[in-house]
Amino acid sequence: MTTKAEKRHMDRVATLPCSVCGAHGVQLHHIRETLGMAQRASNWLVIPLCPSCHTGKHGIHGDRAMLKVIKADELTLLADTLRALAA
Ligand SMILES: [Zn+2]
Ligand SMILES: [Zn+2]
Repeated sequence: MTTKAEKRHMDRVATLPCSVCGAHGVQLHHIRETLGMAQRASNWLVIPLCPSCHTGKHGIHGDRAMLKVIKADELTLLADTLRALAA
């Protein structure tokens, strides 16, 4: 169940470049997906990631090496995303 406001927010996030490497053509990552919680991730907690940084070998669902390279965690990326939307 996605509300109109959530859909609008996600559409805007999807126009941003990858928050890890800056590539265009992103997928949305829900930041609680990787915490292994049964609770569904919020549609407001999404960050834009290119396929490689998202589900690639070193991506956020992989060994997460991309995050270590830029010394960021998912909350840092969320903050960057919110800042980019506010700009
Ligand atoms: Zn990327
Ligand atoms: Zn994801």
